[in-house]
Amino acid sequence: MYLLLVLLLGVSVCSSRELTATIKLVEQATINVEITNSAEYGIALLRWNLPLDNRFQSDSFRVLLQGAPVTYIGSIVKYAGPYLNDYVFFAPNETKSYQVPLENSYDFSQPGEYDVVMVTDVLDYEIVDDVHSLPHTRETFSPYSGIISNSLQITTTEGLAQKILRAPVPCTSSQTTQLNSAGSSQKTMITRAVSRIHEGGHTPTYLEWFGANSDARWTHIRDVLGRVNSNTVVVYRCDNEQGVFAYVYPTDRAHNIYCCGAFWTAGVIGGFDTRAGTLVHELSHFDNIGATQDYVYGTGAARNLASTNPNQARANADNYEYFCESLFK
Ligand SMILES: [Zn+2]
Repeated sequence: MYLLLVLLLGVSVCSSRELTATIKLVEQATINVEITNSAEYGIALLRWNLPLDNRFQSDSFRVLLQGAPVTYIGSIVKYAGPYLNDYVFFAPNETKSYQVPLENSYDFSQPGEYDVVMVTDVLDYEIVDDVHSLPHTRETFSPYSGIISNSLQITTTEGLAQKILRAPVPCTSSQTTQLNSAGSSQKTMITRAVSRIHEGGHTPTYLEWFGANSDARWTHIRDVLGRVNSNTVVVYRCDNEQGVFAYVYPTDRAHNIYCCGAFWTAGVIGGFDTRAGTLVHELSHFDNIGATQDYVYGTGAARNLASTNPNQARANADNYEYFCESLFK
């Protein structure tokens, strides 16, 4: 009986969902996202990759047009930190609202009937009573997965164009010099990585960053690294956003890479989270190179992903970056 009670309590604790999301149509394809903390305690959420970060778009929604998935056309961001201001704080029973023009993140260029659901995972959250413990390190993230909203139908009678909200700033001459140097270090790095991947899927470095070998995964990884290596189309841009290494738009065929505050303070090559490695990471995101995601960030989480979920590791940008950077320790 006691065991049963413990089990029931365990189930009720695990299944309690403090955070809920509701989406409503405002106009055209602009929606209002309401996130509610229904708990009696405050909660802090890391806003990376969520529609709570008004600096960047996020792939937090599942959008279908006449039943077929719609391409995500927004940005994908390599963050530094986290820092305290990367968290959004919810008081007990507080609801916060955010407006999201979906046409800036998803391809709404065709008129028609779209179905939208918010489906997102939070990389890190904390009960506010322990707020002094924030920011967490990437090694101590406490994920909160599976925030799913109601579904919403949006009917558009005309196609809607994406608006690019962030304008890059002109690079200084010093930044241009540094970008050229980082670009040539990236070439050195990827050349060595391509030669190393041809040694096969059993080397310690491969196993560390991509996990258990399978022919299909190894072939995929070899091909992605090969496309990073052979890519000659790239434009380096400058952006002063702090707390961010770089970002790209994965559908961008000109391969613009926007380098931000943390990029300029990173080492060029040698160790992890370098400028050369960041450029590998960003190139792997382009959907005609690697179509990688940022499922996890940081060396600890990337190693863990390799050992627990190698299929996801072969699609995660940091795993490519750290594989390449491991060859220059
Ligand atoms: Zn990334």
